[in-house]
Amino acid sequence: MSLPPDYHMHTPLCRHATGEPVDYARRAVEIGLTEIGFSDHSPMSREDFDNWRMFDRQLDEYVAKVRLAQKEFPQLTIRLALEVDYLPGHEDWIRKLAARHPWDYFIGSVHYVSETWDVDNPAKLSEWKKRDAYEVWKIYFDRLTLAAESKLFDIIGHADLPKKFGIRPAQDCTPFYEKFLDAAAQAGCAIELNTAGLRKPCEEIYPSRDLLQLAFEKMVPITFGSDAHAPAEVGLNFAEAVALARSVGYAETTRFEKRERESVWL
Ligand SMILES: [Zn+2]
Ligand SMILES: [Zn+2]
Repeated sequence: MSLPPDYHMHTPLCRHATGEPVDYARRAVEIGLTEIGFSDHSPMSREDFDNWRMFDRQLDEYVAKVRLAQKEFPQLTIRLALEVDYLPGHEDWIRKLAARHPWDYFIGSVHYVSETWDVDNPAKLSEWKKRDAYEVWKIYFDRLTLAAESKLFDIIGHADLPKKFGIRPAQDCTPFYEKFLDAAAQAGCAIELNTAGLRKPCEEIYPSRDLLQLAFEKMVPITFGSDAHAPAEVGLNFAEAVALARSVGYAETTRFEKRERESVWL
């Protein structure tokens, strides 16, 4: 059995990743992947929004880097995509981004629970001391639900990212997960199994088994992503992610081309 496509990979344009797309592609071939997709952090309309994404003026350069990898590795299917931040009010900007290139898919990710707090940012770890984890989860999943409902995205990224630093609410968050997954199922939006969580203090794939089990019951499609920020991270822990998906019942994964979805056996 070959490994599923790695649909979540970054490039140095986001200012916190190393290696060119050709280097990620070379690594993918080395480990036997047949399909990958670049989904670097999308630009924001305001250039000074934060410091961990490409600038708007670099979007064409990003596409050119991915096209070069496609040319150098014709034996590998390489998708052109973006990881787009979802914040309420940014919908028009996201629609404009979508119209600028023939993207294969958009991963919609929530990192921000307010205009200024990106919950996964290690530089803002002290913010967690001022917040109640249950409240953060509620806001996070409300935003994730809006992202799914917006129909702007093909895949929702790392669905329980707030657990990154190992801080978790004591309360049961199942109702938040249910609401989000109902929206995803309704919109025909996939969720990803993101193995980066295994490399973080939470030491767990995003999303948790509980959330993934519910997703399977609601027939929400899945994709796989390493969230690689370096070539060595391509496809990392995919066997473990596939095992998790299978253990809750999944037998299929999802491919995207020009924003059309196709289910394939896992
Ligand atoms: Zn990143
Ligand atoms: Zn992300």
